[in-house]
Amino acid sequence: MDYEQVRAVDSAVADALAGEDTRQEETLAMIASENHVSKAVLEAQGSALTNKYAEGYPGKRYYAGCEYADEVEQLAIDRAKELWGAEHVNVQPHSGTQANQAVYFATLDPGDKILSLDLTHGGHLSHGHPANFVGQFYEVEQYEVDPETGYLDYDGLAEMADEFDPDMIVSGYSAYPREVEWERIQDVADDVGAYHLADIAHITGLVAAGVHQSPVGVTDFVTGSTHKTIRAGRGGIVMTSEEHADDIDNAVFPGGQGGPLMHNIAGKAVGFKEALQPDFEEYAQQVVDNADVLAETFADHGFEVVSGGTDTHLVLVDLRESHPDLPGGEAEDALAEAGIVLNANTVPGETRSPFNPSGIRAGTPGLTTRGFDEEATAEVGELIYRVVDNHDDQRVIDEVSERIDELCAAYPLYE
Ligand SMILES: *Cc1c(COP(=O)(O)O)cnc(C)c1O
Repeated sequence: MDYEQVRAVDSAVADALAGEDTRQEETLAMIASENHVSKAVLEAQGSALTNKYAEGYPGKRYYAGCEYADEVEQLAIDRAKELWGAEHVNVQPHSGTQANQAVYFATLDPGDKILSLDLTHGGHLSHGHPANFVGQFYEVEQYEVDPETGYLDYDGLAEMADEFDPDMIVSGYSAYPREVEWERIQDVADDVGAYHLADIAHITGLVAAGVHQSPVGVTDFVTGSTHKTIRAGRGGIVMTSEEHADDIDNAVFPGGQGGPLMHNIAGKAVGFKEALQPDFEEYAQQVVDNADVLAETFADHGFEVVSGGTDTHLVLVDLRESHPDLPGGEAEDALAEAGIVLNANTVPGETRSPFNPSGIRAGTPGLTTRGFDEEATAEVGELIYRVVDNHDDQRVIDEVSERIDELCAAYPLYE
């Protein structure tokens, strides 16, 4: 984009926006929670709907002039229902965290008990970290993955639930590479009489495409983000049954938010329409196939891959075996210098600080959007290993950087 209008008003912001476009075009976005939306979604998000107040829901707004807002939001809702097969969908949460907030607000009182996965084992801040409102308003205990296998410890979870007697169990994760068995966790929730929230933020697209099993219709509530494996722009979503529909709608607005971001909801509507096209299933399958190849390439070179592989879009590497003296943050920096942008991540049984943990997390949604197949992804996997293994060798970093430039040019983002 040329940002002509912005530049006329504010060249500093225009320069930063153009810089960001170039950065995304000329580097590989391998942060597992990131992706690239289409120009159609960008255009919808940049529309005049940003000007519109539309507190309320389609057909029952607190403001006049909402006829087009109604149309856009209803389209987003109808398409989401079709994509995920949910009875009721709320598309107004500004983010995944606010979608979770709405579920807690609809079901819990302050001081009630939440059982969720530990952050360092792949959980999310909004599942009960002390620095988040969830950790401060509710009593939180956390389950873990099996440190040996890296898989969820379903039996351990059941034992903890028995003892802790939670009001809410949260499943769905930020750094868990394996398929989640929703029904096993639902059985635990049934046994102890707890609500069950499945937060599919990372895998909304994989679930919509049917390449990961769906919690919709299994758990009481499903939340998601609209910008990770589905390319509908930044935002959140809540799905539930008719039974909880009003409670959720009231918890989103007026419970936790004011006016909805109607321009973002337009982006969601367009992105959902794109995801309803037949080629989206191919995309989602390719995301998983590419992650599989990435995990294999890593393991072949000697990285320790948490859980031994992946069923999803992400691969988690524990550097402590192969590179015990290299904190994840330094690996992240060396890779960024070479044009591969991913993040340092905690690993099960973490022994370093969360600010500079022992692992790196790599995702394939962004690469796959650019058209990377298994062969191209395997090459990226080799390049990642090379950089990490030679993180203090500038010559290697420069060589890899040149190759990343070539790959980015061969798989352009916005032509
Ligand atoms: C990314 C993520 C969210 C949503 O985060 P926001 O940044 O608030 O949109 C929620 N839950 C999990 C498990 C996530 O990984």
